[in-house]
Amino acid sequence: MNKRDFLKTGFVGALGLISIPSLAKGRNLLFSKQKEFILPELPYAYDALEPYIDSETMMVHHDKHHAGYTAKLNAALKNYTGPPPANVKEILTNASQYNDAIVNNGGGFLNHKLYWKFMSPEGGGTPNGPVAKAIQRDFGSFDNFREEFNTAAIKLFGSGWAWLIIQDGKLKITTTANQDNPFMDTLPEDQRGFPLLNIDVWEHAYYLKYQNRRAEYVNAFWNVVNWEFVNKRYDKVTRS
Ligand code: MN
Repeated sequence: MNKRDFLKTGFVGALGLISIPSLAKGRNLLFSKQKEFILPELPYAYDALEPYIDSETMMVHHDKHHAGYTAKLNAALKNYTGPPPANVKEILTNASQYNDAIVNNGGGFLNHKLYWKFMSPEGGGTPNGPVAKAIQRDFGSFDNFREEFNTAAIKLFGSGWAWLIIQDGKLKITTTANQDNPFMDTLPEDQRGFPLLNIDVWEHAYYLKYQNRRAEYVNAFWNVVNWEFVNKRYDKVTRS
């Protein structure tokens, strides 16, 4: 086969591939409309978590940072030609199939959406219910768990998140860099799982009130942890 024939065959081959209907899974690849992701509202007022998380931080964090990830995610998806993802979890669990702009901003979108819900003005204290039992089982005690989580959050170098995840039925504390999320298929197997709790340790999450004192912010966080929501997520994943 000479070069010209080879090119011709390759071209026809590519066209043939595109026309296989099963690849499109019933979706029209040419005309599918990408839906826009919408910035989730804060589930409470900006000042609701005072004095632990200050109002100004919440305002900038939600209205500027989270809004920015949302806008950039939508912008990145405008250039994406594959089948539209149903939600951000779908993007992250298939992170290896998407470009960095979609994955990074998708992570920023979901990580913050969860973070707002993992906190509540009615939060704090120690957990009840199934999560309390699982913490006891996998960490020995709530104090041990809290200490291990604090250490992970405080020691994480640079920007990222600390997580409580459930992996093969067992609770585990992990950290991710930047806006990575435990759902991502690009993470090492031992860092992947279903997120039950997170804390943002980017400086933008605490700098206005705590400046460089990340440990103070991490300790204050326990006063607002929404254990009811943590239990809801635990129920959801252990029953499915
Ligand atoms: Mn943040």
